[in-house]
Amino acid sequence: MLPPETELWNGVEQTAREVFGSYGFGEIRPPIFEPTELFARSIGLDTDVVSKEMYSFEDRDETSVSLRPEATASVCRAYIEHNMHALPQPVKLYYMGPMFRRERPQKGRYRQFYQIGAEVLEALQQGQGGAKDIPKDAAIDAEVIEMVMTFFARLGLEGVELDINSIGHNAPNCRPAYVAKLKAELERVKDKLEPDSQRRIETNPLRVLDSKLESEQAIIATLPRIADCLCDDCAKQYAEVKRQLDLRGVAYRENWRLVRGLDYYMRTTFEITAKGLGSQNAVCGGGRYDGLVELLGGQPTKGIGFAIGEDRLILSLQEAGKGAVAQGRDVYIAWMGEKTLATAIAAAQESRAAGLRVELPPVEQKFGKALAQADKIGARFALILGEDEVASGLWTLKTLATGTQEKLEKADMMDFLKKAKSSPQS
Ligand code: AMP
Repeated sequence: MLPPETELWNGVEQTAREVFGSYGFGEIRPPIFEPTELFARSIGLDTDVVSKEMYSFEDRDETSVSLRPEATASVCRAYIEHNMHALPQPVKLYYMGPMFRRERPQKGRYRQFYQIGAEVLEALQQGQGGAKDIPKDAAIDAEVIEMVMTFFARLGLEGVELDINSIGHNAPNCRPAYVAKLKAELERVKDKLEPDSQRRIETNPLRVLDSKLESEQAIIATLPRIADCLCDDCAKQYAEVKRQLDLRGVAYRENWRLVRGLDYYMRTTFEITAKGLGSQNAVCGGGRYDGLVELLGGQPTKGIGFAIGEDRLILSLQEAGKGAVAQGRDVYIAWMGEKTLATAIAAAQESRAAGLRVELPPVEQKFGKALAQADKIGARFALILGEDEVASGLWTLKTLATGTQEKLEKADMMDFLKKAKSSPQS
């Protein structure tokens, strides 16, 4: 990643900080690598991410460490390690940074990619939990979703679509009952499915619903739907999340095929897609994962979070023509004659302190060459400082786009430049 594109990345990250900060989230910076065991336990040994895609290696003491494929596990690990259950609950954290997965690279899919994500964690206090928490949990889920959508709106991301679903929870009368029903139905139509899906009937039947294969779509459309099998509490929670989204003016589409394969994922799941990304059009995935902190050795703790694919977010902004970033410099200081150097340095220092982007050539240049160079690097103004200007105190400013030139007193010049900085470029 190079300038000027990195300016776009910085802008996106700055907006995330502002929006997430306005919802009361603080930044966590987890390490880039962690014990392999952390990811194996939290993401699951049977997932592609852990079984095929992790960059793992033996450290000198023969423990295995891995480059992080995602950050939720690390955030939960940190929550436990730093006793965050003792802080006012819930704890709201966001992170941003590189993740690593050994996938087949293509547009929008890389082996080092960047995520911006957030998690809300809440240790269960005495007497908490159960059906009476439903409205509160639903409000938290809806607020987290509202926050991502606000972030995308602030960036001007186009064609944003939010899909939501509830995947119930891991109790006999809820998701497992649905999975059994789904499995029985899949066995019945097994012959019509492709080998990948046939295999998943055994390993992870829910994942069959993810299939994008054209030949399987008609069959999948006839399969049982989880919404019809949710237990009362999960059904109530799902209805409440939808009501809360409506209250917040967040538009969504229900998608019964949106699933997660791991036991500790529960209830709310969501995915957001955007325009201009082809087949890799998911820019954000998220969901509730009560139980993950406990699985990692902490006390019972509720959790909901999401991860945004920053590379795809940037691609989508660029495709929509929103990737333009300010280039070049505000001012090129064309100084001529050794006696003008001190004045040139002072002018550069003062303009930089005022936030202008200034190029001060290290050695004296001939007039023509200085202006050509100013043009080449995309400067808006050339401040021309010759010995005459320094002696008279009247400085020359050339506007490069129009070629117009004017003489101004030093103080007026600085005022003019400072104002020019904040006004839009002509
Ligand atoms: P996940 O952690 O798999 O739920 O992914 C969350 C988001 O991260 C996805 O919606 C993508 O936008 C992004 N993402 C995941 N894997 C990659 C990858 N290999 N390259 C680029 N973006 C990715």
